[in-house]
Amino acid sequence: MRLSQMLFVTLREDPAEAEIPSHKLLLRAGYIRRIAGGVYAYLPLMWRVLQKVSQIVREEMAAAGAQECLLPQLQPAELWRESGRWDTYTKAEGIMFSLVDRQQREMGLGPTHEEVITAIARDMVRSYRQLPVTLYQIQTKFRDEIRPRFGLMRGREFIMKDAYSFDADEAGLKQNYAKMHTAYCNILNRCGLAFRAVDADSGAIGGSGSQEFMVLADAGEDEVLYTEDGKYSANVEKAVSLPPAAEASPFKTYEKLETPGTETIARLSQLLKCSPTAIVKNVLYQAVFDSGRVVLVLISLRGDQEVNDVKLQNELTKLADQYGGKTVLSLTVPDAEAQAKWATKPLPLGYIAPNLDDAYIKAPKPMPAGQVAVNPVTPKFLRLVDQTVVDLAHFITGSNESGYHVVGANWGKEFELPKLVVDVRKAIAGDRALHDATQTLQTARGIEIGHIFQLGTKYSEALGATYTNEQGEEKPLVMGCYGVGVSRLAQAAVEQSYDKDGIVWTTAIAPYQAIVVIPDIAKADQVKAAEALYDELSQAGIETLLDDRNERAGVKFKDADLIGIPYRIVTGRSLQQGKVEVVKRATKEAQEVLVEDVVPMLKQWLAEKD
Ligand code: ATP
Ligand code: MG
Repeated sequence: MRLSQMLFVTLREDPAEAEIPSHKLLLRAGYIRRIAGGVYAYLPLMWRVLQKVSQIVREEMAAAGAQECLLPQLQPAELWRESGRWDTYTKAEGIMFSLVDRQQREMGLGPTHEEVITAIARDMVRSYRQLPVTLYQIQTKFRDEIRPRFGLMRGREFIMKDAYSFDADEAGLKQNYAKMHTAYCNILNRCGLAFRAVDADSGAIGGSGSQEFMVLADAGEDEVLYTEDGKYSANVEKAVSLPPAAEASPFKTYEKLETPGTETIARLSQLLKCSPTAIVKNVLYQAVFDSGRVVLVLISLRGDQEVNDVKLQNELTKLADQYGGKTVLSLTVPDAEAQAKWATKPLPLGYIAPNLDDAYIKAPKPMPAGQVAVNPVTPKFLRLVDQTVVDLAHFITGSNESGYHVVGANWGKEFELPKLVVDVRKAIAGDRALHDATQTLQTARGIEIGHIFQLGTKYSEALGATYTNEQGEEKPLVMGCYGVGVSRLAQAAVEQSYDKDGIVWTTAIAPYQAIVVIPDIAKADQVKAAEALYDELSQAGIETLLDDRNERAGVKFKDADLIGIPYRIVTGRSLQQGKVEVVKRATKEAQEVLVEDVVPMLKQWLAEKD
């Protein structure tokens, strides 16, 4: 391709809209243009990169035995109602763009395709003889993200590869899952990315086991905790660990002490000269279930620990049926305004004890017969206790009276241990690992580029997708689903590989592998040599750009660096000796090479993936 004929516009300055290096560089180098928040045009260079990534994905999907298809983006609400996700996706998370068509039918733009694919399997898979089967597509997904940002990293319209496997049983699913795991490792290795596969939370998609593939980069929105021995790595949302050992409480007898100004654990431990690990803190949350019920949750956990909201949300989801629902629509720490709606009197914030009286919650208003109250607040606290406080003795905690704490308290004596013991603490760097207490958790930032799930029968049961097994019994299909953010991956590659002059693509996903630069188009010999090389390289199957623009040499070199083409060939002064300059973008290593040696040399480098 000739640059003179391309829509090729580069910017000298960093665009104000971009915060992270990869976003700045893709804008500056003319790969993408912002059209609206989280909505980007992929310009020709970007499209080539995306095609390269897609091709690698296709090859690895084929190797894993998956077949390509293309599913509709416009999806009927009924399918999402069958799975029970319409309200969660359009209202609670609000991630799904939805619309009403001219016949008043509700539809959504696909943020993911479990419902559609399960409906297809329901209709088409009848017998165990058709199993296992895996389908995938590479397509634009729509998600109304709360905070679209960082360019293609978190878009509202982005390209995803999503695959879905159907098996007769769990063992089959595990095999397919393992194949996809291998495929994902291959995809990332071939794209030249440094990554880590980590244990992950399954979120609203549901199901049991899942892992995320994290591309390691400081700009990553996720935190990964891992051990040096390579045996453990998890998203912080999911991570487990041993908390630091608790220090003994200095108080042996139970008493109430005046502790003014100790709303925080730091101030309390300072005043009482005790370790935060001897304190039981009690944290209040407000959960709204899809049934409309509002539940106030009181969690007791060790003073030095924080609540992991994702773990808490999962625990509450397990309890949803007790509140007439299936899922948690929102989980917040109630602010003064929220408290005012249900509290009978001001709460002793900072001094709450595990036995905070239910009388703090207003009783529901009596409703006229036959009418149901809107958003009724459950008039009892849901009391949960984190594992970290179960074994504490002589602990310090609130007294339910502002300005006072109690010390030397024990479960089973002054306080009843809540029945629901859970793990909702946040694991942090420095904690000891569960598998080996001599290993401490390390932290890294990651960009989630892929997520693989063992879904099980969640969707097949909900939509009635069954098959007949060898014994003639009807069984639900056992499913897995596997996503790769193709557009996110492409940008993550830039985030991992750039320098002060621009992008540094690996040859596997660079839009072009070589660029022939004519320093001065007024010089006939330079033009002639460049044209000949350009033809030769192209014929040899090396994707090549020809910078034949009427620009200064310096501008051309800067642009070549900025767009990150792996090999630059310059038809300059050394032509007199029958040579051209060949420069490697990654290392800036330059050498004079005989014109006839250029093609064989580049071919060899590409074969070596140098
Ligand atoms: P995240 O936690 O980053 O929002 P997710 O868990 O919602 O991601 P999945 O539903 O598992 O993501 O989607 C599969 C893959 O699609 C992700 O691993 C990611 O690479 C990509 N992806 C998800 N959301 C976006 C987005 N808004 N923009 C670009 N890529 C995305
Ligand atoms: Mg998401």
